[in-house]
Amino acid sequence: MPPRAEVTGTPDLAADAIKTFEAAQRGDVLQPGQPGYDEARALFNAMIDRRPALIVRCEDSVDVQRAIEFAQRHRLLLAVRSGGHNVAGKALCDGGVVIDLSRMKRIEVDPATRTARAGAGLTWSEFDRATQAHGLATTGGFISTTGIAGLTLGGGLGWLMRKHGLSCDNLRSVEIVTADGLIRTADATEHPDLFWAVRGGGGNFGVVTSFEYRLHHVGQLLAGVVFFPLDQAEGALRLYRDVMIAAPDELMAYAVFLTSPEGARMFAVPVCWMGAPEDAERHLRPLRTHSGVAADMVRPMTYLEVQSMFDAGFPPGRLNYWKSSFLQDLSDDAIATLVAWFRAVPSPFSAVAIEPFGGAVARVGIDETAFPHRQARFSLLILSMWTDPAGSEVNVRWTRELWSAMQPHASEAVYVNYLDTDDADRVHGAYDTATYDRLRSVKERYDPENFFRVNQNIAPAT
Ligand SMILES: Cc1cc2nc3c(=O)[nH]c(=O)nc-3n(C[C@H](O)[C@H](O)[C@H](O)COP(=O)(O)OP(=O)(O)OC[C@H]3O[C@@H](n4cnc5c(N)ncnc54)[C@H](O)[C@@H]3O)c2cc1C
Repeated sequence: MPPRAEVTGTPDLAADAIKTFEAAQRGDVLQPGQPGYDEARALFNAMIDRRPALIVRCEDSVDVQRAIEFAQRHRLLLAVRSGGHNVAGKALCDGGVVIDLSRMKRIEVDPATRTARAGAGLTWSEFDRATQAHGLATTGGFISTTGIAGLTLGGGLGWLMRKHGLSCDNLRSVEIVTADGLIRTADATEHPDLFWAVRGGGGNFGVVTSFEYRLHHVGQLLAGVVFFPLDQAEGALRLYRDVMIAAPDELMAYAVFLTSPEGARMFAVPVCWMGAPEDAERHLRPLRTHSGVAADMVRPMTYLEVQSMFDAGFPPGRLNYWKSSFLQDLSDDAIATLVAWFRAVPSPFSAVAIEPFGGAVARVGIDETAFPHRQARFSLLILSMWTDPAGSEVNVRWTRELWSAMQPHASEAVYVNYLDTDDADRVHGAYDTATYDRLRSVKERYDPENFFRVNQNIAPAT
């Protein structure tokens, strides 16, 4: 056993209290100075450097229950970590307790009912491998290393969303440990208010230990990336906009500004056709035959290939600063602004992405879940990534300035999972007023003391 280092940030936390707590846990408890502590507090975004007093690596829901009880008894701040991808670093707190769910990776797939019960510690790549073994899948994120938990609780945008809805639209139930320490099931009949709130309301209502998803048959797809040089980007993005506004549910395509490994600034359309193969050509032809195409890498792919196509471009440990908004319009003016700004992007790792909505996302009623942006057409995400801390000022400034330049085309709304550290005053913008007020009432019912507040926080109603 390594020697215990002093717990920092919580001077009144007695060593014997920690020992008793640790002895009762199935998982382990890490303190500053112990082997593994620094690895356990590393997040996707290297801008975040927080030092919790305890990192509790839970093995099951009872471990989670006890960790909540311990934090409450000692009046400690509590954060919840699943995949560790949240750019605002909400998975960690300074000096408090972190419930780390990354070991809770149990998954059971039932091909007969087309459902999966998945532990909160799974990443999408782990989830997809298990479900694709049966030819099944549900909507996950664009990058397969992201955690299923944080992504689903905020809504969950991904390749399959126009055909099968958001990740949260595919939830059948969750198991959740609430602030009163109870392990509850929330679904359409049991605690329906809580079930409504966790489908978009983030980590505000308790610690979700497992998710039950509806699955869909997903076989071979036609997918890949069509690349354009940056000087063709205006025309190509206008075409992309027109194609996606008229597209059937089976067509999903992102629009991304990026820098090639050779250093060329490019415009790319990652695309996936999930309809009948004989219809693919008709729907993909306009993009693939545009006169400005530099490279067409579209080919038959498995869903696992589609899901991990961009993973290498988003390694953990880079410095990240993001800004995002839903767009009111993707007008020719808005497009010209994006192209002009990307010419001056300071880091070769940064990207600007447009995500299209519509399809199955838009057929869910605004009040059916706590994700209200059902009629949005496009979301803008500026993802600045760089490696040298000396570059932070210039990259953050460029991101903010581009976001400001896009404000005439943006709405006040934003996707909650894209909010960064300086966006605390935009949480309301992640919801419409009716959804926000209803979330506050549910919060009041299940967490009146706002114990779960290291998140994009929704304060209790009173
Ligand atoms: C490279 C990259 C690509 C992304 N692509 C997409 C995308 O395509 N689509 C999309 O929708 N989003 C995307 N995101 C955003 C992503 O949804 C959020 O970052 C999300 O918070 C990640 O979830 P996580 O479990 O990995 O995060 P964590 O950092 O572990 O958790 C984030 C927060 O979620 C809450 N939370 C997490 N787990 C639980 C739990 N079990 N119970 C209760 N609360 C919990 C907590 O408040 C926690 O602080 C992407 C992020 C990155 C970094």
